[in-house]
Amino acid sequence: MPGAEDASQTFVIVGAGLAGATAATTLREEGFAGRIVLVGLEPHHPYLRPPLSKEFLAGSADRDSVFVAAADSYAERGIELRRGVRALSVDPIDHLVALDDGSEVHYAKLLLTTGSRPRRPDLPGAGLDGVQVVRTLDDAEALHERLAGGGRRVVTVGAGWIGLEVAATARTLGNDVTVLDRGAVPLASTLGAEVGGVFAQLHADHGVRIRPHSAVARIIGASGAATAVELADGTVLPADVVAFGIGAEPWLDLAESAGLEVTTGIAVDEHLRSSDPDIYAAGDVADAMHPLVGLRLRSEHWANALAGGAVAARSMLGLGAVHDAIPYFYSDQFDLGMEYSGYVPLAQGGEVVFRGDPAAREFVAFWLADGRVVAGMNVNVWDVNDDVQALIRRGRRVDPAALADPAVPLAEL
Ligand SMILES: Cc1cc2nc3c(=O)[nH]c(=O)nc-3n(C[C@H](O)[C@H](O)[C@H](O)COP(=O)(O)OP(=O)(O)OC[C@H]3O[C@@H](n4cnc5c(N)ncnc54)[C@H](O)[C@@H]3O)c2cc1C
Repeated sequence: MPGAEDASQTFVIVGAGLAGATAATTLREEGFAGRIVLVGLEPHHPYLRPPLSKEFLAGSADRDSVFVAAADSYAERGIELRRGVRALSVDPIDHLVALDDGSEVHYAKLLLTTGSRPRRPDLPGAGLDGVQVVRTLDDAEALHERLAGGGRRVVTVGAGWIGLEVAATARTLGNDVTVLDRGAVPLASTLGAEVGGVFAQLHADHGVRIRPHSAVARIIGASGAATAVELADGTVLPADVVAFGIGAEPWLDLAESAGLEVTTGIAVDEHLRSSDPDIYAAGDVADAMHPLVGLRLRSEHWANALAGGAVAARSMLGLGAVHDAIPYFYSDQFDLGMEYSGYVPLAQGGEVVFRGDPAAREFVAFWLADGRVVAGMNVNVWDVNDDVQALIRRGRRVDPAALADPAVPLAEL
């Protein structure tokens, strides 16, 4: 391995989440023998976030299970993991990253995998004890402490994936749970009202109250701790725990400091290369050109971080890798498990075809645009995701009646 000073053989990765850790590992697997520096703001080794609103929050998965790789595997692979260190700025002319421990690292190639940070409420009472977001391992541990014993009054603000998953976990742990939805139907902006309604019914059936068209005015507290949430219409909901799941924003400060092109994220091509040929981006922070649809997509999902981290590493090595995976995500809430594959921007407002019974919560939903399947979601139906992805990838017109007919194998469409 080259010495610490050999900048021509140094690859720096900023952001030690799933995308960054995957990229570092892939560099070694592809035979890169140079220096790899992986800089991470958090004190922890890289970990997975999906369990933080599900099994880890519930206490059914232990701490060790959330890590991307064993703690000693980074050193074993010659990856310099700098934990608890923030990269402050990037100088693309001198190929230099400045770190908040006072040091600087020269790079030959730089990968930004800085992910996204949760939107935080800017409301009176937002700093009270019991009010929090769920993004980090520390957040999830704090929330678990609050929910584990049951019997708490929990208000989840936001009816997106994280808000609903936290609500389901809180309810399963025996708490009294209300979800505040800014819109009319949970998840409608992604799935449309009809499929979103399946999730509304799921939560209602498990005793979660979902309040549509609700906006929070302030959090009320006593002795420094939350006691209630006051809505814009004056309604006061008693609450000991207020969990905000109101979306996330990509960390763009480094990209901006480097003068990179920024759109809804760091604008990158299908090789995940930015407007600077020596700087790449992957994971939540990347707004990547998808070669199959000719659109830039920014995807805040686990599979995108995993696939994108590997593609970015190969691109940095000049191996011509292309990030053309069909976007994919999953969710688990109560006894409902689902997988979604496809292009949300193309599916929005499209025709929805059901195969199976939405009321029984066992079905596959397909979104069609111009007669072609652009997205599909299997709910409590398994081993069909490959077929759904194949339909999307083929991009041929399909007969909606055949799509809806469980007797017609998907592979035959
Ligand atoms: C609670 C929760 C549940 C989720 N559930 C699912 C799910 O069920 N299915 C699914 O598909 N996806 C899920 N996701 C989304 C998924 O976890 C993310 O898409 C994924 O974590 C993105 O990985 P990443 O590596 O791009 O970014 P991140 O995981 O955000 O990692 C980026 C890291 O970079 C660090 N960083 C930022 N700026 C700097 C800097 N200047 N210097 C040093 N370090 C920096 C950050 O602190 C962070 O640790 C969930 C997310 C959350 C929060």
